[in-house]
Amino acid sequence: MAGYDNVIVGGGLAGGMIGQSYREAGGSESVLIVGREQRPPYHRPPLTKEFLRGDKPAEETYMHPVEWWSEQQVELRLGTEVAAIDPAAKEIQLADGERIGYRRLALATGSTARPFDDALTIRTIEDSERVGEILARGSGHLAVIGGGFIGVETAASARMKGLDVTLVMENAVVWDHLFGPEVGAYFERHLTDHGVHIIRNQNGLPEGLQADAVVAGIGATPNLDLARAAGLAVERGVHVNDHLQAATGIWAVGDIAEYESVVHGGRRIRVEHWDVALNHGDYLGKLWAGATDEPYDVVPYFFSDIGDWTWMEYVGPGSGQVEIRGSMADDDFVAWYTDPEGRVTACLAVNRSDDIETAKELIKTGGKVPAP
Ligand SMILES: Cc1cc2nc3c(=O)[nH]c(=O)nc-3n(C[C@H](O)[C@H](O)[C@H](O)COP(=O)(O)OP(=O)(O)OC[C@H]3O[C@@H](n4cnc5c(N)ncnc54)[C@H](O)[C@@H]3O)c2cc1C
Repeated sequence: MAGYDNVIVGGGLAGGMIGQSYREAGGSESVLIVGREQRPPYHRPPLTKEFLRGDKPAEETYMHPVEWWSEQQVELRLGTEVAAIDPAAKEIQLADGERIGYRRLALATGSTARPFDDALTIRTIEDSERVGEILARGSGHLAVIGGGFIGVETAASARMKGLDVTLVMENAVVWDHLFGPEVGAYFERHLTDHGVHIIRNQNGLPEGLQADAVVAGIGATPNLDLARAAGLAVERGVHVNDHLQAATGIWAVGDIAEYESVVHGGRRIRVEHWDVALNHGDYLGKLWAGATDEPYDVVPYFFSDIGDWTWMEYVGPGSGQVEIRGSMADDDFVAWYTDPEGRVTACLAVNRSDDIETAKELIKTGGKVPAP
């Protein structure tokens, strides 16, 4: 039976980052990444943006070319499904029955797009290629279900390619559930100004809506079955402590990790965003290499682009009172979110990255909004 010091289940960004950061931090023991997809670890954000529009080749979404991983002596087993974990024996079992031993195990199994009837979804490069072929026709009518990030970004990309686009959402205003109606209205304006037709307060496709294709962006389900079957504590995600550890010799990172966030007073949070996957993986690689034993304390950050019309950055997650500064009309503003004591809980910025950096510190320290 093969055995490795470090085994990572899931070859997405979080899994890839563990291997990369472990080597960068001087870790010299063996590393194996087992991933279901045929491709080396890659970045998903372009799949609703440049890649979807045909403006970026698949290889440019890869964290590194395939050879880089072998040069780093990080072994990739691609196109390979892990079927089970046996924590008592410290082994994983592949779908073909092969067993592989480990000393340390990381679960980085990510999420699966929630299906909706026969609508297309976008999670993988292949999914995005399928939808990209429809966009490349440059005409026709695309219906997009879901007013979250995937839905809004896909609608914008399709419109940029010249399709008629109808965005159907349960929200009253785009992203009002995340940022409140005033900030949401700013993003919605960019969509409607560019001709995206929006149907609000609607669950699923309305009767009689005719479209040439339908894409659903109605959320993702974390892949928790392996962890659950292995007897790990699982709720909305895999429960991990402030060192991202789930059990002796087992850690979980990225979309699936429901972690004790020291930044949020120990509250358990789970965040499905690129920067969190990146930082979780980076942290765990360092931890395994012995380069840190501090708790994980990065403030969650995320970003989104609406076509090439506008974009946003956000740190949090948090809610509360919102104070907007700057000019929405000029695409240059910041929204500060505060709790009843006036402490910053979150911050959204458009073209004001400096405020995002300030907000990270204020969220960590429980500080108040700076004077204008
Ligand atoms: C289309 C799209 C656009 C996005 N855009 C943004 C954005 O603009 N900004 C932002 O902040 N975030 C964005 N995100 C979110 C971000 O990409 C994810 O949060 C991030 O990819 C999570 O990384 P992960 O490594 O945890 O999981 P994943 O990237 O999902 O990787 C998990 C990998 O594990 C594999 N796997 C699962 N189970 C097994 C198993 N049993 N055996 C072997 N392999 C397995 C999966 O096949 C997958 O390859 C986007 C996501 C998508 C889908």
